[in-house]
Amino acid sequence: MTRKVNRATAAVWAGEKDYRAHGATQVPVVNSVSYDYTDLSHWYDVATGEASGHIYSRNTNPTVASFEDKVRQLEGAEAATSFATGMAAISNTFYTFLKPGERVVSIKDSYGGTNRIFSDFLPHMNIEAVLCDTNDHEALEEEVRKGCRMVHLESPTNPTVKIIDIKRIAEVAHEAGAIVVVDNTFATPILQSPLELGADLVIHSATKFLGGHADALGGVLCGDAKLVGEVFHYREINGATLDPHAAYLLLRGLKTLDLRVRKQTENAGKLVEYLETHPAISDLFYPGLKNHPNHDIATEQMKGYGGIFSFSLIGGMEAVRKVLPRLKYANRAANLGAVETTVGPANTTSHVESTKEELVNLGIPSSLVRYSAGIEDFDDLKDDLENALSILEK
Ligand SMILES: *Cc1c(COP(=O)(O)O)cnc(C)c1O
Repeated sequence: MTRKVNRATAAVWAGEKDYRAHGATQVPVVNSVSYDYTDLSHWYDVATGEASGHIYSRNTNPTVASFEDKVRQLEGAEAATSFATGMAAISNTFYTFLKPGERVVSIKDSYGGTNRIFSDFLPHMNIEAVLCDTNDHEALEEEVRKGCRMVHLESPTNPTVKIIDIKRIAEVAHEAGAIVVVDNTFATPILQSPLELGADLVIHSATKFLGGHADALGGVLCGDAKLVGEVFHYREINGATLDPHAAYLLLRGLKTLDLRVRKQTENAGKLVEYLETHPAISDLFYPGLKNHPNHDIATEQMKGYGGIFSFSLIGGMEAVRKVLPRLKYANRAANLGAVETTVGPANTTSHVESTKEELVNLGIPSSLVRYSAGIEDFDDLKDDLENALSILEK
């Protein structure tokens, strides 16, 4: 009986063997724009798709292909293609499928950049983006049933870690004839498999957890071979190609994905437990909390609650300005999912372009801090937070 390879093993081994060279145990960085063919009919066959191979690295490249194949196997997908950034993965997917006069239904809590595509760019093309209250599944279903080309979901969301019931919305979307796209950046393939829950396409900002070291940008799309093929064609012509060196860094980062995500999840869970009773905290958002509105759905569709939580302080932004600089083991930076703990106020990171009113509408407290737990020792992270928060007692 053949058994599906576990994700921890796939993260290490998948997608590599076909791309090794010279007996090396690691995939090389193929820094070549084009590929030499002495046999012109072979070149022709590769160009027409009759034979496999590479012609020009804007289209395909061996190091990039190895990265794509590893993520494809981690997501249990038929096909995968990659991009220069996560935003390129999202925008190329939207622009491939959405045509003038069509609708896309999504949530108000999408990633900031995604939201900007909805508000600043799709309207020019006469594409309507309907953004529903993330916690209101009935409203989402109602908008989907009115008819739409695509449903774009994100779960957990940024930065208040709201949870969408992917299976439930995917069923309604398919009845309405829509494609279901899920941005799985926060959960990673270790904790959540949107394709198994009914999504057609899964997107990652590989810049975050997949790479995990905050040293390379990238994006990836996985799913149905025909749909991925259409987006690949858009990308190869429009040119948002992943660089081979970035692909190598992402490949190397991916090998420890399972270890990292487990440790980050463990650290986040224990830190939330510590902060829950801390007198300086006013809001605390984490799907692992029993009082999280979608705790049960998170438990059902995820294998863990993830490495990210957010909190606000009773003293508001003034308190945040005092506390964050005191953290020894955290970068105050705009990324997340790295081996180093990374913190940042939502109003300067994911929602820097939102107005006060928009933040209120999204239920984001104005002094909310996103905490992306790293892989450091838990006691050190806890002591660090305790020490930083102690300034508020004075
Ligand atoms: C960061 C992020 C993106 C965008 O990815 P880039 O690689 O920065 O372009 C998209 N979605 C989510 C959920 C993200 O966190």
